[in-house]
Amino acid sequence: MENRSVAVIGGGIVGLCTAYHLARLGARVSVFDRTFGLDGASSGNAGSISSGSVLPVAYRGMARDIPKMLFDPSGPLRVTMGGMVRHAAWLARFLRESSEARIRASAELQVQLVPKSLAAHTALLEAIGSTDLIRTTGQLHLYPDAAARAKDAFGWALRREHGVVAHDLDRAGVLQIEPSIGPAYQAGVFLPDQGMIVDPGGYVGRMQSVLRQAAAALVTGEVRGVTPAADGGVSVETADGVHAFGEAVIAAGAWSGPLVKRLGLSIPLANQRGFHVQFPHSGVELQRVVVIADRKVFVTPMTGGLRAAGTVEITPLGSPVDMRRAAALVDHVKRVWPEAATEPHTAWSGERPCLPDTVPVMGRAPGHPNVWLNFGHGHLGMTLSAVCGEAIAQLMAAGEPNAIVRLFGPERFGN
Ligand SMILES: Cc1cc2nc3c(=O)[nH]c(=O)nc-3n(C[C@H](O)[C@H](O)[C@H](O)COP(=O)(O)OP(=O)(O)OC[C@H]3O[C@@H](n4cnc5c(N)ncnc54)[C@H](O)[C@@H]3O)c2cc1C
Repeated sequence: MENRSVAVIGGGIVGLCTAYHLARLGARVSVFDRTFGLDGASSGNAGSISSGSVLPVAYRGMARDIPKMLFDPSGPLRVTMGGMVRHAAWLARFLRESSEARIRASAELQVQLVPKSLAAHTALLEAIGSTDLIRTTGQLHLYPDAAARAKDAFGWALRREHGVVAHDLDRAGVLQIEPSIGPAYQAGVFLPDQGMIVDPGGYVGRMQSVLRQAAAALVTGEVRGVTPAADGGVSVETADGVHAFGEAVIAAGAWSGPLVKRLGLSIPLANQRGFHVQFPHSGVELQRVVVIADRKVFVTPMTGGLRAAGTVEITPLGSPVDMRRAAALVDHVKRVWPEAATEPHTAWSGERPCLPDTVPVMGRAPGHPNVWLNFGHGHLGMTLSAVCGEAIAQLMAAGEPNAIVRLFGPERFGN
């Protein structure tokens, strides 16, 4: 990609991995971000590299849970009244994704990407001298008992159909893997081939440094628009003026919507707000990500303490944050580790960029040959960032999508 100048819009982990792979291929890269790490989802996530996560967020029987989503503010998936209005069309599409056929179709797509994620992060972190950030110790899912696990039997069977190694465990098996788990959880599933990033914010910071060393420009500022220029390139408009590039990649996470809308594209992107709490001195020793499966909460031993992350709130982007959702995470942690020291703790919220079928958009913007898209990684943006960053860079170098990347193009939404 020598002599090609590319603007990457968005400096979250997806934009940074995209910029990294473009720079490796020889492109001159500039990354634009409003805050570089302060308002994106990439530093506050659970750090799980969920390389077996082929299931979409929509699930069978979701329709009967709608009343709970609307009226139970502490449930794992909540839709606020504002979210109901703002995202009505998106929610209708999301509901359609809950049939068995659509779940299977989403898994068929996801399995093209997620199994490669751990190797992709490992290779990237080796190349930048940062393997201290990754652990490949697997993932443990917890259930109150075997009957609760049986309710998820369809999902576990689908994962196994797609080659995911998952061992059912009784209480003794759970304790063998993680001895600190309290008596409220009697059953589990262990996935040995998963990993974790023990400091997602640190990963973001190191990628920024690596890019600076590679002579990439990191430009702080809000991008108002990316438009085709008369000379065949693209214009990137910020408060400072208009910047000219040969090409641009939109990788602005949950905020990508207005940028693609200005290009006349219709891509159903919604934000799903999530939360974390982090306990610097919990006293809990873990070796791996523990998923409290009945609460959909991920608990990760980060370098800065134990982090519990999860819950989904579908609500307008920019609406006031209700931190009571974060407080509920403390109760979930206490159920698993009654002795955990949960004070002091910090709390955080972030916006996942979500498409109704759970898989990201990657490809060329239809009608705009020099604008590329890489967003909508939803609950799996940390997992997929290295794979998708490399895939979009290779696609841009080659010009034509290969058989796999073609599946993720914006054309699937009728563009
Ligand atoms: C609670 C929670 C837990 C999670 N846990 C996991 C997990 O364990 N594993 C996993 O794989 N994923 C997880 N995720 C999902 C993951 O964090 C996201 O999918 C991922 O961070 C998205 O990365 P991104 O780079 O696309 O977006 P972001 O990190 O949100 O970055 C987008 C950046 O673009 C900037 N930006 C936006 N618009 C503009 C503009 N117009 N001009 C300039 N800059 C702009 C923003 O300021 C932001 O910095 C979790 C998410 C949440 C909320």
